[in-house]
Amino acid sequence: MPKSEKNFQEGCGGFFIKDVENSLSQKGMFLSSTDKKFAVINPARMCQPLGAVQALLGVKGAMPLIHGSQGCSTYMRFQLCRHFREPINISSTSMSESTVVYGGEKNLIKALDTITRQYEPELIGVTSSCLTETIGDDMDLIIRNFLKDNNDFPVIPISTPSYAGSHVEGYNHALRALVEKLVNPTSVHYSEEKSTFESSYIDNKLNNLRRDPKYVNKNYNVKINLITGLISPSDVFTIKDLLQEMELESIILTDTSQSLHSPLNGEINFLPSQGTTIAQIKDTINSRGTICLSRHADSAGVFLEKNFGVKLINIPLPVGLSATDQFVETLSAVGNKEIPENIKLERGQLLDAMVDAHAYNYKRRVAIYGEPDMVIGLTRFLSELGMHPVVVCTGTQSNIFRDEIGVMALEYGHDIHIISGGDLYDLQQKIVEEDVELLLGNSYSARIASEKNIPLIRVGFPVFDRIGAQRINITGYRAGLNFLDKVTNTIMERYYDPGIQEKI
Ligand code: SF4
Repeated sequence: MPKSEKNFQEGCGGFFIKDVENSLSQKGMFLSSTDKKFAVINPARMCQPLGAVQALLGVKGAMPLIHGSQGCSTYMRFQLCRHFREPINISSTSMSESTVVYGGEKNLIKALDTITRQYEPELIGVTSSCLTETIGDDMDLIIRNFLKDNNDFPVIPISTPSYAGSHVEGYNHALRALVEKLVNPTSVHYSEEKSTFESSYIDNKLNNLRRDPKYVNKNYNVKINLITGLISPSDVFTIKDLLQEMELESIILTDTSQSLHSPLNGEINFLPSQGTTIAQIKDTINSRGTICLSRHADSAGVFLEKNFGVKLINIPLPVGLSATDQFVETLSAVGNKEIPENIKLERGQLLDAMVDAHAYNYKRRVAIYGEPDMVIGLTRFLSELGMHPVVVCTGTQSNIFRDEIGVMALEYGHDIHIISGGDLYDLQQKIVEEDVELLLGNSYSARIASEKNIPLIRVGFPVFDRIGAQRINITGYRAGLNFLDKVTNTIMERYYDPGIQEKI
């Protein structure tokens, strides 16, 4: 690896496993599996408030406020800016030694006051941090005290203790908090007549949209709530595009397609000028259903179903052929719409490309690393391409991840090492053991790929050592086709180009 690249990766990714092992072996020590239980070496996950901030950045006019020390806010801005390459503002309550002893109430109230006066946001999302969770600040109470003269202003407390989860959980908690705090039971639309959807295709196809009799007269509108999970702005855009092609109205929770991929037009915005509006979030209780594309971020959908009878439909992230089929068929059923010819054409083209590429991809041994929903989606897609995912890894502890990959392993007859809640040390160990030929993961896996001389396709969060992270697109048929080309061409370049074997 060139020295400059090595230094760059060291600067961004911290020390590397080899460095740890070298340093220990110089002292006559070795890393045992027992040591490993007490030390995470190059973590593969990020902290909860970071995920919550990503959800908030998809809300128009929202200001994220981290109730913690300034370093937390700086770390998150740094990660988000270098990935999305957008100016991102995250405020902080700037906790210090004395506020740790006496509590952070004064700081939080002061911060809320300053932000509302100086930036005039439409909403403030307050996330907790390791520090304020540990000292036990009651954010709900402090915010209620702050709001006593201004009850209508939305300040959303979001509990995000980093030692109890990853950015995926933080994202999930933020969506739930947004919906739970903004919706108002008095704005549910009821009518004297039975709902127009009562005997519709949806009820028959999707097992009775309104199961609870108390909602029988609820007047659902034609919109669909859509929870995307933690995906790139381009993927959110693709999903919106598919909904538009199917002529379906939707509320995206939350819409980062432009707020984290904005045009250069001379305007400088301190707050997201695009995204899901507060009015839209309030209206989610009147939608005909919620489609959730993330098994790890469905709690807002569960809340809406439980409290307002809005049917929740959980389906996988539409990555690859069968998952996109499921998404398109669900949209068709929920919206009572025919699948447009253009979408059928794109499906056919993807299928054709899969056949064309099969000879190159067949049985290639792949490792996939990143956010759990993305890894699940890519594992299925690469299996559809005839490849063999031998190692799959996510930093988030998740039984759902284990189960879903386990089911796929049985379905495709693959032996797969599943690492859930692991770190980059675990990933590297398995990559070496399994003789991996291609790695898919974020920039933190670049050094593993480089050291082991394995081609890397960058995907997930964060991608900071290449340009265009916000445009990495894997959802839907069209993006699936482009991604397939990328995977196959990477394999061809490494393993089929004449003379390459001698160079490796
Ligand atoms: S892990 Fe905790 S202390 Fe570190 S940035 Fe995240 S919230 Fe702050």
